[in-house]
Amino acid sequence: LLSHRLTRVAHYVPKDSVVADIGSDHAYLPCFLVLTGVINKAIAGEVVRGPFESAQKQVQRELLTNQIDVRLASGLDAIELNDGITTVTIAGMGGPLICSILEQGKEKLTNVERLILQPNVHSKAIRDWAVLNQWRIVEEEILKENDKIYEIIVLEKSPTSVSWSSQQLLMGPELLKKQNGIFQEKWMRESSQWKKIVASMESTVQTIEIIEKKQELVKKIQLVEEVLQREN
Ligand code: SAM
Repeated sequence: LLSHRLTRVAHYVPKDSVVADIGSDHAYLPCFLVLTGVINKAIAGEVVRGPFESAQKQVQRELLTNQIDVRLASGLDAIELNDGITTVTIAGMGGPLICSILEQGKEKLTNVERLILQPNVHSKAIRDWAVLNQWRIVEEEILKENDKIYEIIVLEKSPTSVSWSSQQLLMGPELLKKQNGIFQEKWMRESSQWKKIVASMESTVQTIEIIEKKQELVKKIQLVEEVLQREN
């Protein structure tokens, strides 16, 4: 049974797309997509040997070796242009790591139509990357599993450049529109965490770095509180 988190990632995969799942671990996501008939062909990329072997075993167990190719490689090195990949999924990593994978493999994204990204933390890094590289946000989702809160960001190529406010970059333009209970909970958690950090910084030596970091956090707390207060 696929986790709720990966089921929601799978939800955004277009029917009959050719998927590359990067950092696939057990290849649960591509196996689920093929077994449920959403797609016919996928590549599961893994950079670490242990998870790579788990992915191979899982694909063999499900009798999907004809449809899912498991490759040992870092990031988008797992795919070639002639694989015909149309959707890339990268789930369960931090936003900055997801961005570095995209950035380092940019030339492999030429024919890719959709990126489905599920950052565990720092989703802002992904939105910053999207703006710089002309991808637009088509969907965003926030969900909770085992008391952890996750975001999903779905990107498609944008013919024109997009620009967002700092609030939208931090919290997500689509998530801001919806603002469900999980969204509120996430940002209440984050801002109370930041407040604790700011308070602890007050009692240390005020170096330039500390002062700058503090200002940055105070700015973020303000951005978040503006949104949360608007709602209440
Ligand atoms: N995608 C699965 C999920 O969401 O449940 C697995 C997430 S797991 C926490 C992250 C996986 O990404 C690990 O198996 C790790 O080895 C792999 N990984 C990390 N950096 C990678 C990279 N540069 N290229 C490919 N895989 C990577």
